[in-house]
Amino acid sequence: MNVFSESAFDGHEQVVFASDDATGLKTIIAVHNTNLGPSLGGCRMWPYATEQEAIHDVLRLSRGMTYKSALANLPLGGGKSVIIGDPRTQKTPELFRAMGRAVEQLGGRYIVAEDVGTSTDDMAQIASQTKHVGGINDGKDPERTGDPSPFTAYGVFIGLKEAARFENGHNDLAGLRVAVQGLGHVGYHLCKMLHNAGAKLIVADLNPASVSNAVTEFGATAVSVDEILSVDADILAPCALGGVINDRSIETMRATIIAGAANNQLEDARHGDMLREAGILYAPDYVINAGGVVEVHYCRNGKPASETNKHIEGIGATVREIFERAKQQNRSTSFVADRLAEERFGPRQHAA
Ligand code: NAD
Repeated sequence: MNVFSESAFDGHEQVVFASDDATGLKTIIAVHNTNLGPSLGGCRMWPYATEQEAIHDVLRLSRGMTYKSALANLPLGGGKSVIIGDPRTQKTPELFRAMGRAVEQLGGRYIVAEDVGTSTDDMAQIASQTKHVGGINDGKDPERTGDPSPFTAYGVFIGLKEAARFENGHNDLAGLRVAVQGLGHVGYHLCKMLHNAGAKLIVADLNPASVSNAVTEFGATAVSVDEILSVDADILAPCALGGVINDRSIETMRATIIAGAANNQLEDARHGDMLREAGILYAPDYVINAGGVVEVHYCRNGKPASETNKHIEGIGATVREIFERAKQQNRSTSFVADRLAEERFGPRQHAA
């Protein structure tokens, strides 16, 4: 098993392996960088085929959170956790309480929230053991359910409008064709905002019920999941999976802007350069999908949802700075975003 020599290790400050025989908990908690504040990141529950796969995933995701929070101007570092197990069959309240005790042992260096395979109910169990948890439905604010997705969608919407302004000279979306891949938690809310702004929607999802809902509610045009990345659209919003921007999809892509919620959209870093060469403006995923982490932070600090939204609107200025620097430096937007994030979270700090 490799940890220090893992490709995604990248100077992680701390990686903790914790287990609990009574509940079957096997978790890895990764703290990448705490220069700007305690690390915050979701807990993913997934039936990883091997422990190495789990290590790779947690390190990659935790590093990504450092970059995301730095560019979102949050006083937070990057961390993440994974629970090895099948969320459909292996979840119990006791398992998440054991997870809460594992988080508590880090003394606040890591703050946990939802991710793929975990829910607000699971966070409530964790919260019975530690205060270092976010994404809870405490019932105090009707604008909040503990689910960060609507806030993520709002940030994507802000970033998408800024990309349209950069490309078209104005950010009016009326009549623009936006192809949305994935109509889940984020994709649905994004479609609603785009529809209200007058955009024409083209949508695809593996789930036919989500598609027919978007057709009825937003007058969207449905296409197959094989067509969505190459449809004739002005903007492509990937809101399903990672790795969708690759050699094959770039070749057939007709949209000139990509702005969506999915994490790790570029299959490889070089695809950022390919997009630039193809004249496609890419709003880097982790820059514009930071609305959820902003909400978790504000909610934890007892601030109203209106303040979350105000902070999220700052994503517009950040992504504009990235577009401008990329143009001046003749570099890809993804390269520029990474360097800007590194400027903000700075070099590793060492004890005197
Ligand atoms: P979700 O699971 O609710 O929705 C994903 C949707 O994509 C589902 O409806 C699924 O059927 C669909 N899908 C899967 N494969 C597809 C394919 N090949 N073609 C078309 N549709 C497909 O997830 P979500 O919470 O909406 O998140 C969407 C993306 O945004 C994920 O990549 C996630 O990591 C990222 N993200 C989400 C948040 C958040 O707050 N939820 C925050 C940051 C990033």
